[in-house]
Amino acid sequence: MTDARALSRRIASLLAGERSRLAEFLVALADFDRKRGWGTLGYASLFQYLERELRLTSSAAARRMTAAALVQRFPAVVEPLRDGRVCMSVVCELSKALTPENAGQVLPRFYGLSKREAEALVAELRPVANPPRREVVTALARPAPPLRASAPAEALTAAPAPERTSPAKSERVQPDADLFSAPARPRDEVVPLDADLRRYHVTVSKAFLAKLDAAKDALSHAIPDGDTEAVLTAALDLLLEKTDRRRGLVKRPRPAPQKPSADPRHVPAAVAREVWKRDGGRCSFRLPDGSVCGSTKRLELDHIRPVALGGRSTADNLRVACWDHNSLHAEHVFGREHMDKFRKDADRSAPSTAAGGSTSGACGEGAEAAGSTRTQRQRGTGS
Ligand SMILES: [Zn+2]
Repeated sequence: MTDARALSRRIASLLAGERSRLAEFLVALADFDRKRGWGTLGYASLFQYLERELRLTSSAAARRMTAAALVQRFPAVVEPLRDGRVCMSVVCELSKALTPENAGQVLPRFYGLSKREAEALVAELRPVANPPRREVVTALARPAPPLRASAPAEALTAAPAPERTSPAKSERVQPDADLFSAPARPRDEVVPLDADLRRYHVTVSKAFLAKLDAAKDALSHAIPDGDTEAVLTAALDLLLEKTDRRRGLVKRPRPAPQKPSADPRHVPAAVAREVWKRDGGRCSFRLPDGSVCGSTKRLELDHIRPVALGGRSTADNLRVACWDHNSLHAEHVFGREHMDKFRKDADRSAPSTAAGGSTSGACGEGAEAAGSTRTQRQRGTGS
């Protein structure tokens, strides 16, 4: 722990140094640009100087140029950059929103924001005029498998052409100039349009579109125009209701059973409901700085005093924890070596997955057998 604390102090000091140097770099770059130092050296522009002399990639050069221009126009940005309230990924968004008139009020609103949050704030401050409410389905082709130099010539000529998916029932296919170089599954992307509206790009399979069409048909009485957002919202509401039921969060809870379960790991629905509500559906693990983790991902009910050590499934002894903190808690209680050994044993005894699937589920169960602090309800078996 002492070692970790000392290392953490060193890392924090390095980070502070990095931020400070970045701020100094941008101030110097802005000054260099103001004096047209790049022209004196024979470069056509600051961008060319950054790309050729400093060997930055074009995107890195563009980001730094934007940041240097922002620093020139708004020197008040330098201190927040230096102390980390504003990071480089937010600077480009900031440059879209700041004006001499609004800088005093708007700059502090960007403090501590992620890039995505900054994009949303820009959309709120400068909404897109008349955002289109449209739905477009574009066919993508998976890239062809790479050709191996050692493959026989006939195999190369016989290589199948990349399959182009045919449009499903509701598709309106748009020509796509970059069709055959499109990645197999681009990441989902959310583009804020104004304070409320978002454009959502998502890559799906034909099977998904067929299901969507079937759902639109099934809901055509309630949603006659087949609005995709309305249909998906109805589906997501059902899914979230199901998750709530597993957590005991139902509108009309059943009375608690008279006879308690013989299994000490079993968490009664009424207790689960109380804990999920009390912890607000977030990981309540306390961090060293005194705040709570607050994660909403991979949540489980965690026995504070493990069942293996006599802990009981009562609201006082349970908390909502994310998978990582649940595992960390088990390591703190039983020791890392002990947990590593049981994870390895679980991995060895887990059935091999032909498709190379994850064994984390088996690992979790092994950890539980080893006296982990996890509960049955984490796997939905306790409801
Ligand atoms: Zn957590």
